[in-house]
Amino acid sequence: MRILVVEDNDRFGRLVVEHLSEADYIVDLVGTVEEFYSINSYMSFDLYIIDLGLPDGDGIKLIQRLRQNNNCTPILIATARARLDEKIRGLDAGADDYLVKPFNHRELLARIRALLRRKPTIQSELFTTPSLSFNMITGDLSCGDMNLQLRRGERRLLTLLIQHSGNTVTRELIESRLKNFQENCSSNSIDKMVSRLRKALAAAKSDLQLKTIRGVGYILEETRQ
Ligand code: CA
Repeated sequence: MRILVVEDNDRFGRLVVEHLSEADYIVDLVGTVEEFYSINSYMSFDLYIIDLGLPDGDGIKLIQRLRQNNNCTPILIATARARLDEKIRGLDAGADDYLVKPFNHRELLARIRALLRRKPTIQSELFTTPSLSFNMITGDLSCGDMNLQLRRGERRLLTLLIQHSGNTVTRELIESRLKNFQENCSSNSIDKMVSRLRKALAAAKSDLQLKTIRGVGYILEETRQ
């Protein structure tokens, strides 16, 4: 599980990173809204921990913008702002939980576990196009009379591409997402997975095609007749 901590108080941020790392999470720490967008553009996270008072913007606006852009990654606000109306504003902006500083790291870890348990990784397990249906949980791919079952790597790759439909998915993002379950996610293994997924989509005569964006990554597109 990979967590992004957005915290401009360096000492506090490092302490949180230390506790999370001890609990075996992979953690990245950034101190500004700008840095958040930068790392978030090529890396995917399972949870964000966001401080509200940031040097180049307000955490609330950042959260609102993420939700407006359909980013449904769980968000935990960690802030010194303790007033009731501030908590309500934070949760209404789209955060999933709110923790007031100072807090005990054991409570932070328990709240993270609770959020990750109910993490909505995918809004619906079934993805359909005019000619195809794909179950992101089981990997079943159906196209007319043709039924295929994708292997785990291809299923995760296709799910990732669907979740970022219409956008280029970078190789770095694929690597960071697939590393969680596949120890050795080399550049070579991504190429093989892409090639197997292309073959499966072609075999199913699907209306989806996986385009290579040279030097960047891949994009999933529907081919309309
Ligand atoms: Ca702050």
